[in-house]
Amino acid sequence: MSSPNPKFRVAICGGGVGGLIAAHALARFPNIQVDVYEAARELTEVGAGIGMWPRTWRILQTLGLDHDLGEAAVIRPTNLPRVAFTFRKGDQPLGLSFNQLITPGGLISFHRPDFQKVIVNHLPPTCRLHTSKRLVSYLYGPAASSVQPPPIYLHFRDGTTAVCDVLIGADGIKSSVRTSMLRELAGKAQAAGRPQEAQQHLAGIDARWSGASMFRTTFSADALRQQLPGHRVLREPVVYLGKDTQLTVYPIARGTRINFAATIASFGMENSAFEGPWVEDVPPFDLITHFSRWEPEVQSLMQCVSNLSRWSMHTVHPLQTFVSGRVAVLGDAAHCMLPYQGAGACQAIEDACMLAEVLGHPNTTLTTLSHALTVYDAIRRPFAQRIAEKSRENGMLFMFNYPGLDNFSSHNEDVRRLSEVYYRIRKNWEWAWETTIDEDVVRARALLEGSENGRGSEEEESS
Ligand SMILES: Cc1cc2nc3c(=O)[nH]c(=O)nc-3n(C[C@H](O)[C@H](O)[C@H](O)COP(=O)(O)OP(=O)(O)OC[C@H]3O[C@@H](n4cnc5c(N)ncnc54)[C@H](O)[C@@H]3O)c2cc1C
Repeated sequence: MSSPNPKFRVAICGGGVGGLIAAHALARFPNIQVDVYEAARELTEVGAGIGMWPRTWRILQTLGLDHDLGEAAVIRPTNLPRVAFTFRKGDQPLGLSFNQLITPGGLISFHRPDFQKVIVNHLPPTCRLHTSKRLVSYLYGPAASSVQPPPIYLHFRDGTTAVCDVLIGADGIKSSVRTSMLRELAGKAQAAGRPQEAQQHLAGIDARWSGASMFRTTFSADALRQQLPGHRVLREPVVYLGKDTQLTVYPIARGTRINFAATIASFGMENSAFEGPWVEDVPPFDLITHFSRWEPEVQSLMQCVSNLSRWSMHTVHPLQTFVSGRVAVLGDAAHCMLPYQGAGACQAIEDACMLAEVLGHPNTTLTTLSHALTVYDAIRRPFAQRIAEKSRENGMLFMFNYPGLDNFSSHNEDVRRLSEVYYRIRKNWEWAWETTIDEDVVRARALLEGSENGRGSEEEESS
């Protein structure tokens, strides 16, 4: 039961992975009122795959989602060592498996709609979900009294408004909350005579093209079995590596389907403007031709591709802050990253968990909310931005776009250099199974408890 007199009202804008997990995590605090506003008419997910790592899985366990998610996973999650990915140089007539990433439990993979269904079905009854509510902007209203901070008014595209005390922007890569928040911060910096800082805030509004396009589809495992019985992808996730091109493939939907994601990159185009639609259906012919010199098991995968969509991969430029006053952004809205560590949703889940931690803390009240959000920013921003950088670097390694990886020649030399590639990929990724969020939670509590009377500066109220 939520309290009839909540300590404050939280609005979550966006009902994707990050927004919904934030709603779950906040439900542990019945004295906080939670409303989720989602632009779409209903909650849906693309029919592709999504992978989770042990660091994130522990959060999902804490939220009590692990049992049903475990049922939906390809393989029931365990702590036993499993192959997370086999790495194979595939851009040659005879492919070469050069290493296997073995981690506790491996990659915990799902069909996205299955994953979402579990999260939605478990949404606590206290959380109110409003669909067809596309946020356009927000504004601080007049304060009801000198001691009460002013409410935040949300303006939706259908002309309606809503009110809250804290706004969480979980509205994805093209986030309206990020746009309003960064404009507000830039305006304040400009007014304070800091034009350079204002420019830095404005630079975070538009997402940037990474120079890479990803071609995504799923197909039935039986179709692949017919092409090549015993294909390794039927058993385990594989990354096929090649120059400026890579392919990640793994089983989903309890092993009945295969998730397929191929990247073609022009690294020199990074940060340029992308012309055309970000996502569109394309005929498979061009992609199949692009891979025509790759090894036979890649050809078998290509033969199964019938529907294909092309995603231009955009990222959010590292923001100077994830918060302003009583507004915060999380997930892709805050740090949309490249998918070469399967970490974007994982990081959104960590953001959600940390936000709930700071908002639910007993020291956090209506008047100390902005301080609580600065703690969220201090802990989550450096970590998430570091993972974004590591994901980018892994993409460069997957596509041999790294110093010294231009030409592969003799077999022995190739094996030596590929071992180096693997070593770097693994080092970049270890955070996902060798660390937990627990230390960050302890730090957040210490910051909230050590702060002077738990009070922070109500920046927006004084402006
Ligand atoms: C090819 C690919 C593979 C990936 N694989 C993985 C993986 O294996 N593991 C992993 O962890 N991550 C992966 N990711 C990243 C992951 O999909 C995203 O990081 C994650 O979905 C972000 O969640 P989110 O809730 O922040 O945003 P989203 O999932 O984009 O949700 C945003 C929500 O906000 C709604 N919305 C948008 N605008 C508004 C508005 N103005 N008002 C109200 N609502 C609005 C949208 O309709 C949507 O429901 C992958 C990404 C790609 C592209």
